[in-house]
Amino acid sequence: MSETIFTKIINREIPADIVYEDEVSLAFRDINPQAPVHLLVIPKKEIASINEIEEGDRELVGHLYWVASKLAKEMGFAEDGYRTVMNCGENAGQTVFHIHLHLLAGKPFGWPPY
Ligand code: IMP
Repeated sequence: MSETIFTKIINREIPADIVYEDEVSLAFRDINPQAPVHLLVIPKKEIASINEIEEGDRELVGHLYWVASKLAKEMGFAEDGYRTVMNCGENAGQTVFHIHLHLLAGKPFGWPPY
């Protein structure tokens, strides 16, 4: 498994605006926000993409959604709604190969996502 910039953020080797951390996950602000609030929720375990999620990772991946839900509620977005996205591979525009759940909030979003 190759290390990405997100492992450097986990290890505090490069700075990030970290908003949440526990034993297995980390959430920080996206460096190039696409909404008034744009967070990335990541596992500390290096998993390159959705394709590499294993059976033993099921609880961990569910945990990322729990963190997103907790943060969205704490930030006051539960009522208005928000978008979570996990891109997989080239066609989806994945650029960092360490899975991350985008949490976008603070504006209405269109659908479908062209
Ligand atoms: P992807 O396109 O779904 O892989 O999303 C990768 C995201 O990581 C993009 O939204 C980038 O702006 C974000 N990103 C890349 N490097 C950093 C960083 O060093 N800090 C915070 N966000 C980053």
